[in-house]
Amino acid sequence: MGTKKIVIVGGGAGGLALASKLGRKLGLSAKADVLLIDRSPIHIWKPKLHEVAVGVIDQSIEGLLYRDHGLKNGYRYLRGSLEAVDPDAKTIQLSPLYNDSNELLMGQRTVEYDYLVLALGGVSNSFKTPGAESQCIFLDSLASAEKFHTQLLDGLMLLNETQQRLSIGIVGAGATGVELAAELHHVIESVREFGYQNIAKHHLDIHLVEAAPKILPQLPDRVSGRAQAVLDKIGVHLHLGVQVKEVTKEGFLTQDGTLIPADIKVWAAGVKGPDVFADLTKLPITARNQVEVDACMRVKGHSDIYALGDCAQLILGSGKPVPPRAQAASQMADTLYKNILNRLKGRDEAAFEYRDYGSLVSLSRFSAVGNLMGNLRQGDFFVEGHLARFMYLSLYHRHLASLFGWFSALVYRFAQKLLRWQRPKLKLH
Ligand SMILES: Cc1cc2nc3c(=O)[nH]c(=O)nc-3n(C[C@H](O)[C@H](O)[C@H](O)COP(=O)(O)OP(=O)(O)OC[C@H]3O[C@@H](n4cnc5c(N)ncnc54)[C@H](O)[C@@H]3O)c2cc1C
Repeated sequence: MGTKKIVIVGGGAGGLALASKLGRKLGLSAKADVLLIDRSPIHIWKPKLHEVAVGVIDQSIEGLLYRDHGLKNGYRYLRGSLEAVDPDAKTIQLSPLYNDSNELLMGQRTVEYDYLVLALGGVSNSFKTPGAESQCIFLDSLASAEKFHTQLLDGLMLLNETQQRLSIGIVGAGATGVELAAELHHVIESVREFGYQNIAKHHLDIHLVEAAPKILPQLPDRVSGRAQAVLDKIGVHLHLGVQVKEVTKEGFLTQDGTLIPADIKVWAAGVKGPDVFADLTKLPITARNQVEVDACMRVKGHSDIYALGDCAQLILGSGKPVPPRAQAASQMADTLYKNILNRLKGRDEAAFEYRDYGSLVSLSRFSAVGNLMGNLRQGDFFVEGHLARFMYLSLYHRHLASLFGWFSALVYRFAQKLLRWQRPKLKLH
């Protein structure tokens, strides 16, 4: 039997962790051919996208180049965007590749696999709200974070020249919306240090619109209550229990006919699977564009195809689906890593067990809040302030450890800190 070809599509929180571990274990010693495909050449951990969007982190420092990383960690990297899967031929098809001037670089490509892992993540769900797709930025990819950054810089430039107000509206007060609102306030507080002398805090209006009666609706009342107190204090306008029925150039039109004005509009409500999944007619795709997997993360009816993270629908024993979270994608990558090794040795695969460690929400430098679960105590408990911030950052460190191993992750983080120390604290270009 020849060397098995393991193809992973999507190098995000789950896919890149899996590619790194399989690469180090099998790829470096040529026991398997591990190929990672991603549409982007750079990996940014998705929970940091809002920080890229506002310029608090610089992707040239925090971004990881798949090609370099793959060379050292035993996987090959191919830039491409999945457009079709043929489970009978055991091939996938990648879309044609264009350059920035929209010139064709490469036509469609076909890639063969022995085992395929779909790890394409999710996208924001506009629930078909009129105008949302055309007017809003969906903060779900590096490209969208960069688009927001450009609009923010244009807005700040105008604000500095004219002192007319700038209004930013965010639909969805889940973790993404709340973290973005807090981060934006931090930016407006800091821009004077960076030459925007004419801008004052009160020039920026941040509107956070949420259909549920509280922010962070998935989290315990104490966590959302505390986060709400922080947002109130920094002057974010909260519109709770408000449903957006249409998005126009001027802003968000609500069910009761009110217009919430917004120059920059962000849609951060709801998660669904990637749009391309709607075209994968040979696979079991749900109404929310996720692919159905069994307890061992095998796509139902296709034992050589696996899926993990936000693009997969795995129903737990409790009847609930695994939530779309970085910690879930990372745990799934760990289980799938063991399962693929077992499978190559002809052993049984284990069912995925989700461990909810709680949720932490960063409120920029103002703090973090969250609830932790686990062995420390029965049930969950509330954390905030420095401890919560420390635990929030440790999630990222754990992600880096899965990409590099603990020691190299520490060195990598130290190198990043040195580079950041040299550069301005805000990327305003
Ligand atoms: C702003 C923000 C803040 C968040 N904060 C938290 C948090 O604090 N805690 C938490 O647990 N979760 C958080 N999340 C959710 C978390 O980021 C996701 O649940 C997690 O990243 C999912 O991991 P994944 O591996 O499934 O996909 P992703 O990490 O989304 O990675 C998907 C990868 O697939 C690639 N891809 C997509 N389509 C294609 C295609 N057609 N072809 C090739 N490649 C493709 C993408 O480029 C990307 O690299 C946050 C999300 C956002 C947007």
